Amino acid sequence: MLQDNHTINAAGHFCVGGVDAVTLAQTYGTPLYVMDEAVLRAKMRVCADAMTKYLPAGGMPLFASKALCCKEMYRIAGSEGLGADVVSGGELYTALAAGFPAEKLCFHGSAKTMDELRFAVSAGVGLIAVDNDEELQNLSRAAGEAGRTQRVLLRVTPGIDPHTFAAVNTGMVDSKFGVAIETGQAMEFTRAALETPHIALAGFHCHIGSQIAESKPFTDAADIMTAFMDEVRTECGYTAGILNLGGGLAVPYVAGDPDPDYDALIREVAEHLTARCAALHYPAPYVLMEPGRGIVGAAGVTLYTVQSVKTITGYKSYIAIDGGMTDDPRYALYGSQYTVLIADRAGEPKDFTADVAGRCCESGDLIGENMPIQTPRAGDTLAVLVTGAYNYSMASNYNRVPRPPIVMLRDGVPRVVVRRETYEDLVAWPGGCTRFTARSDAFSEKIFDFFGFSS
Ligand SMILES: *Cc1c(COP(=O)(O)O)cnc(C)c1O
Repeated sequence: MLQDNHTINAAGHFCVGGVDAVTLAQTYGTPLYVMDEAVLRAKMRVCADAMTKYLPAGGMPLFASKALCCKEMYRIAGSEGLGADVVSGGELYTALAAGFPAEKLCFHGSAKTMDELRFAVSAGVGLIAVDNDEELQNLSRAAGEAGRTQRVLLRVTPGIDPHTFAAVNTGMVDSKFGVAIETGQAMEFTRAALETPHIALAGFHCHIGSQIAESKPFTDAADIMTAFMDEVRTECGYTAGILNLGGGLAVPYVAGDPDPDYDALIREVAEHLTARCAALHYPAPYVLMEPGRGIVGAAGVTLYTVQSVKTITGYKSYIAIDGGMTDDPRYALYGSQYTVLIADRAGEPKDFTADVAGRCCESGDLIGENMPIQTPRAGDTLAVLVTGAYNYSMASNYNRVPRPPIVMLRDGVPRVVVRRETYEDLVAWPGGCTRFTARSDAFSEKIFDFFGFSS
């Protein structure tokens, strides 16, 4: 099995966190997102402990909540002492609605709007990772209006290719994110930030990509970032207190994928960074890292019901499921690889090969092609493993398909943390303001006033 929490019971059924997946599918319906809370809490603890243990000035993981954004995830991250990244007003709103402390939020994004900046400032977000100069000026205006000084990180691009898939590389010089060190623009950006009113520069941020399985890309980034920080100290007399090395911890999706030990990886990064700072006589910074997938990816499994099995004689077979790109667009978007199995007969050999096809009117709506799997029958529960990250958070209502619920498992007990969307939701949402005005809690009113909605 791909993960330790994946087992097979006496009935031959696939189990997640000790809970029978076929029973879960029958109880809650399909498609169904299942999250094993023990796994995601364990990942949070490994990262948080390692950063506390190995960094001389301390550090904290920020859960990159775009990987799985719902109120329960912010509650769990908060209870484990993590901070969180948000990348939009909507994520920020969700975090605040869950009671997440604003001062432990870092607000990212390459195209934040003026309204979002005002919202973040007024909510008291701890750090805003400023992407570019226009945003710096807008933020200064927003903070000025609110009579506040906003603490910021500057997002810079260290010019690193972490040798992962192109669509998830973000630290290269020509990336759409941040400002390049190599071209000298990051130095200008820093100078501007130090001179801009209502802005307090707290340090620097970089994010080099995703699915990084070794420490080398991070230590390379640390080298470039500390060299840049040293140069800034010389040229501007500014010493950074915070270094944010971004996210990107890898998870294994198929057998043979690297399964990095996060404790060891973070230790290597921390030791390397500490040595670099010592060599430069640079005070050790407080370090932030932003794992998203690494926290939630392996904790998730998606369950579907097989609708039909179609074999095109002489060509290939399709397994049609009752979900697809609407709940998991990652294959359509990136060609991501997955492991699938028939939960009803998980112990049997994978003697069948098929494309697992979604229900949408798109040929590209696939979970994967040529996937080895047990011989399927209509009505079987089909499980796609390691779907905790970028599945629910990327889900859509294309073809007016309601989004599945999330069932969280704790100590063998399932609970619904996001309910299944209904057809009523589908027609209620476009008239969203009607729904908003129906809400009366003080928090909503405050926020909706802020955005100028009538309440
Ligand atoms: C997407 C993203 C992350 C999280 O990436 P993972 O691969 O899920 O760990 C962290 N930080 C930033 C700025 C991001 O854009």
